[in-house]
Amino acid sequence: MPPVILKIALDVPINRLFDYLSGGFNAQLGNRVVVSFAGRNLIGIIVAISNQSDYPIEKLKAVSNVFDEVLIDSPSFKLLNFCADYYHYPLGQALISTLPLRLRQIKPAVSRKMFAYRLTENADMALVSPKKVVMQLMLTALQSKQEVTESELALISATWRKAIRELTRLNIVTAYEVTAVKASLPTSAVEPTLNVEQKKAIKCVLALTHNFKPWLLYGVTGSGKTEVYIQILQRVLSEKNAQGMGAQVLVLVPEINLTPQLEARFRSRLSQFPLVTLHSNLSESERLQNWLAASSGAAKIVIGTRLSVFTPMPQLKMIVMDEEHDGSYKQQDGMRYHARDVAMVRAKQLNIPIILGSATPSLETWFNATNQPADDQKTQQKQQYGLLTLAKRAVENAALPDIYCIDVAKSPTENGLSPLLVKALQERLTKSEQSLLFINRRGYAPVLHCNACQWVAPCTRCSARLVVHLSQKRLKCHHCGLEQKIPLQCPSCGNADMRPLGHATQRLEQTLQTLLPSARIARVDRDSMNNKNALTDLLTQVHNQEIDILVGTQMLAKGHDFPNLTLVGVIDLDGALYSPDFRAGERLFAQLMQVAGRAGRADKAGQVLIQTAFPQHALFNALRAQDYASFADELLQERRVMQFPPTCFFALLRAEANHFSLVGQFLNQALKIANDIKTDVMIYDPIRSQMERLKSMERAQVLLQANTRAALQRLLKEWMPKMRALPIATKVRWSLDIDPLEF
Ligand code: ADP
Ligand code: ZN
Ligand code: ZN
Repeated sequence: MPPVILKIALDVPINRLFDYLSGGFNAQLGNRVVVSFAGRNLIGIIVAISNQSDYPIEKLKAVSNVFDEVLIDSPSFKLLNFCADYYHYPLGQALISTLPLRLRQIKPAVSRKMFAYRLTENADMALVSPKKVVMQLMLTALQSKQEVTESELALISATWRKAIRELTRLNIVTAYEVTAVKASLPTSAVEPTLNVEQKKAIKCVLALTHNFKPWLLYGVTGSGKTEVYIQILQRVLSEKNAQGMGAQVLVLVPEINLTPQLEARFRSRLSQFPLVTLHSNLSESERLQNWLAASSGAAKIVIGTRLSVFTPMPQLKMIVMDEEHDGSYKQQDGMRYHARDVAMVRAKQLNIPIILGSATPSLETWFNATNQPADDQKTQQKQQYGLLTLAKRAVENAALPDIYCIDVAKSPTENGLSPLLVKALQERLTKSEQSLLFINRRGYAPVLHCNACQWVAPCTRCSARLVVHLSQKRLKCHHCGLEQKIPLQCPSCGNADMRPLGHATQRLEQTLQTLLPSARIARVDRDSMNNKNALTDLLTQVHNQEIDILVGTQMLAKGHDFPNLTLVGVIDLDGALYSPDFRAGERLFAQLMQVAGRAGRADKAGQVLIQTAFPQHALFNALRAQDYASFADELLQERRVMQFPPTCFFALLRAEANHFSLVGQFLNQALKIANDIKTDVMIYDPIRSQMERLKSMERAQVLLQANTRAALQRLLKEWMPKMRALPIATKVRWSLDIDPLEF
């Protein structure tokens, strides 16, 4: 009998598979195995089974164990193979990095049993001494909900297990096992009567559910996109295949913060279909359990963030990506994939539809949905996206907010706020309505400045300035985390008159407190919301009308509904209008639309006031008219002229090292090899990165620009192996970013 040779993918930075003998194990494709590699035991995945090897068979080692849960199915292999190729990333690392942590460990994939807890019927709370703080907190949690899960308890205290054991002993609490795919409780959620545009969108999508077809569902916040997803998915999920297996759907969301709301809505409306979520706030055992439920086909709906685009789902019949323009779909290290592009490839490979939803679609998507490229044979075969538009807000009398610019030249700001904005805040306060002030900078002030010599406090490790955090009397680098005390005198000239310059969330909060002493003000940024419950607690306070003014960063911009919020003030965003980053305008528009969407969502009209020195800027004109379409068309025109994506394709070769000379040598040698390759790709000279130094590393980059993805890939296929083989390539940290979002 010929030997069975397993081709194994390992999580090592070497771009190939490794041959091992099966060692008598009954091994199948997609199984996890344990192998000895360079003196260590590693987890690997069987990618192919053969009876041949390029190595002498007698020298091959046998695998030391096989875990026989079949894990990676062949469509997933196909997808990851594509990604490894397209992103030029080792297949083994790509494969293994998409698995839940527990599956990357050398253990069988048995998921631990999960429990939830509830109060017993005649629980006698008096048995717990008021001094037992953790137990009291558990009781409060248990009283507020029917059942509380392990991960919810774990958020309350690290010693929750001990407290729960004691409560169980006292017969106050009972535990019962829960499974990942518990069906949702049926609720009496009502289905709204759809408007004409919604009906049309649903009809279009449902007419073509058995083929690859990308759709853009374009509609402002509140226009009823989620309702459209729900009704489409209802139909898709109800279909069974010939074997009686029910369909699965994957719903991608940009951020963990947005999953609870969507999850609640899906659970109430699609309660007959088991649902799991996949995101990084889950405990590792929940994550494993949910992943296994998805890959076994038991979970019918998977709601997840970026990484979940790779979750094996044997019956996947549709992909929905909400807020498709969101930058967090792009992975910024390791395999630098964009979940939108991966989802698109996955849908194509499976021959299923994919719906991208947004109020401000990415220009990439907008281009695909509005431009049928002419006279290019190749691109004409590319599937044109269907464009589905929801132009109005779905709920009657929930009008879109009025948007005004406050010209800071005419109404000069004092401590960062113009009198017009303060007056508007005052009015809301009198009417007991809520306001939100949006400023995308946390801390007290962006710089510490010496009035005598103009010195500003720099980060010693990055080419960046230190941000003043006054309450902690510290200066912090928001890029590398460096912290130091605020100096009493200027280190450069000795002057003692050092001033924080500019505005950020903390300072604005302080200013407002002085101007409007009766207002109840809350700040929302990464510093104030550093524990997991803080944001949820704050949102509850806002809903209970315990807060008048919210001051915050983009954390506040997304997805939260505040029915009594009627004013949004936007401060200090002018920097983005004239930024060197060609995507800044697109991003700013999306961000402003999103914050504007917070105002007046119920039956109260909302108002958005933007403080700016450029009230006539085209971006604001489009925003006032809430006309993203024409703004996007204009941007596209610009991109075409400038030869920027999506009208062409970029890749970025980045390198960094302790000494700049190494970076320079590496990039120059890399370019030298490239010169010998025949290509239509434009290869630019090396330049310093926008952030020249980061965490004490000197950085530089080379931009590649091509008219087609194929041309770019042809070059890289030849270039990358040669680059990897350069001796200097091991002395610098370098990476390749295909379709980069940051420069
Ligand atoms: P989006 O996802 O575009 O922000 P939603 O689907 O969340 O919009 O809809 C916004 C609100 O309008 C929700 O409260 C939803 O229940 C409601 N809604 C959606 N469609 C309709 C409709 N046809 N009639 C009445 N209310 C609707
Ligand atoms: Zn000075
Ligand atoms: Zn720094």
